Amino acid sequence: MKKYIYLDHAATTPVSPAVLEVMLPFFSEYSGNASAVYAAGREARKAVEKARKQVAAAIGAEPREILFTSGGSESDNLALKGTAFALKDRGTHIITTAIEHPAVLNTCRWLEKQGFEVTYVQPDSRGWISPEKVMSAVRNNTVLISVMTANNEIGTIEPVAEIGRSAHEKGILFHTDAVQAVGSIPVSVNEWNADLLSLSAHKFYGPKGIGALFIRRGTRIDNLIHGGEQERGLRAGTENVPCIAGLGKAIEEAVNHMDENARKAASLRDRLADGILRNIPGVSINGPEENRLPNNCSMRFERIDGEALLLRLDLAGIAASSGSACTSGSQEISHVLRAVGLTEEEARSSLRLTTGPDNTEAEIDTAVQTISDIVKDLRSLYHG
Ligand SMILES: *Cc1c(COP(=O)(O)O)cnc(C)c1O
Repeated sequence: MKKYIYLDHAATTPVSPAVLEVMLPFFSEYSGNASAVYAAGREARKAVEKARKQVAAAIGAEPREILFTSGGSESDNLALKGTAFALKDRGTHIITTAIEHPAVLNTCRWLEKQGFEVTYVQPDSRGWISPEKVMSAVRNNTVLISVMTANNEIGTIEPVAEIGRSAHEKGILFHTDAVQAVGSIPVSVNEWNADLLSLSAHKFYGPKGIGALFIRRGTRIDNLIHGGEQERGLRAGTENVPCIAGLGKAIEEAVNHMDENARKAASLRDRLADGILRNIPGVSINGPEENRLPNNCSMRFERIDGEALLLRLDLAGIAASSGSACTSGSQEISHVLRAVGLTEEEARSSLRLTTGPDNTEAEIDTAVQTISDIVKDLRSLYHG
């Protein structure tokens, strides 16, 4: 029996049983160093190279274009800092958007302190980034465009194929943070003309602390982590073999079951959203009606403090999120909700619910009832 109803799949997901099974031997029987010459090391090396093939196949890349990292944040950091410094002699201007994950946004702010220039393109009210707007920000010293594949707070799917094509025509590198996309929508580095693409295992039923960066062959990029010659000299440190093997299995499963999982998550999400809208007055949806991740439901509740709602939901056994997991807990207002034009109060009254194929209809119905009761209670408490 699950102890709570988990509606925060955009923040993280549990490791699936099949993934765990693949990982376990690499903590014990095959715990050799993947760079060693003895048998246990060779088994570890084999697992790492198998996972590299699995990740490459899932996104339409070649295995040698896949670099293992500690997760989405490191992949984003490496993509941005690594290319910015490697291409400094060509130009110092970067284009990104105002609704990126903090792993991209705060990296860009740091790069600005190092003397790089960054343009932050604003989205429309649905969180959609216009390719024309991106391209009109291009200067003759622009070296990199970074636009996320799909937004983690309001689920907007961005026109990355169009942006990638235009960047390619101008000879500008294109990076996309696809952390929310893998396992939810088809991902193709070639159709999108992506030169760099970030992904993270724990968002698709793999382990935490492992991810990958796709780096197109021939792309100039500097190291973040210096030391040994692992990952073809691009990232030093003994390979995290259990997690790398787990990432490989998780991405294979995510892609194999994508249609079925996405359909299930979307149908549960719709049941949840419809139920809430039917039961509670003064509720609005944040984000787009179309071009939206199948599992994402972001809504705002008039006259409700999102943080209070979240705490009451936790007491009632429902795990959800205010804006994004990365900003909740701090008192900061979601930069995404502000960028799509919500007032401070509207942003503060927002709740993000993200479903997964492991949720049940019964859980969704309980969640709808519980949210309705709590909202009613909070409104009567604070407003008489
Ligand atoms: C979760 C997330 C990240 C960070 O990934 P970690 O593996 O947790 O470091 C980056 N970008 C997006 C869009 C995310 O949702």
